[in-house]
Amino acid sequence: MFSIADNVKAVREKTEQAAEGREICLLAASKTKGPELIREAIRAGVDAVGENRVNEMTEKAALGAYEGVPLHFIGRLQKNKVKFVVGRVELIHSVDSPELLQLIGRKAVQLGIVQDILLEINIGREESKGGFSPEQTEQAVGLAAATEGVRLLGLMAIPPVGDVFSEKYTYFDEMYKLYVDIRAKKYDNTFINVLSMGMSGDYTQAIKAGSNMVRIGSAIFGSR
Ligand SMILES: *Cc1c(COP(=O)(O)O)cnc(C)c1O
Repeated sequence: MFSIADNVKAVREKTEQAAEGREICLLAASKTKGPELIREAIRAGVDAVGENRVNEMTEKAALGAYEGVPLHFIGRLQKNKVKFVVGRVELIHSVDSPELLQLIGRKAVQLGIVQDILLEINIGREESKGGFSPEQTEQAVGLAAATEGVRLLGLMAIPPVGDVFSEKYTYFDEMYKLYVDIRAKKYDNTFINVLSMGMSGDYTQAIKAGSNMVRIGSAIFGSR
């Protein structure tokens, strides 16, 4: 019998083993899952919940699905939905263009808040995916630092699927290098301490490479 509580416990044990003493934020990626299942994951001790779709998130939030933990937005954010996300989530992982960054900043200023964000890096340089290329990262960090209304906390990546194990390691290592580089530069108005990478199939590798925030869906909730 599959139980969300057992799954969370098992994932937590594996993250702790891989982390060797570092603290890892375990985020439950709850797309397509209803409030009851999400509450079960929260009771079992996940640190945060992440959603991919704005409408789905808004509906489930109204039902109290996320009470007790921070809510993050992890999916592709359309520009016309920015207003439904800024100020309603603790962290937006998926800031993937200069335009989106600036829209988020503008909305946050309007609300009189500062929105915490991560920049999404297209580490596999995939045509089909959004995000900043590794080469664009530094410039994007500079832009985030200069944008009123946002505070940059770090980077997020989703490496190409279907890659062999060793290639994934390379992507994770590249991400960790980018993260360390931008952290060392100490830009004003940034507080770089989050590297969000690792999903159900690869989170232990991601953690070993330096991730400190993993986004876990199917290993907690079962398949979608
Ligand atoms: C769905 C999703 C996850 C979790 O994926 P699993 O493989 O089910 O763990 C993580 N991050 C993002 C951005 C997602 O959309």
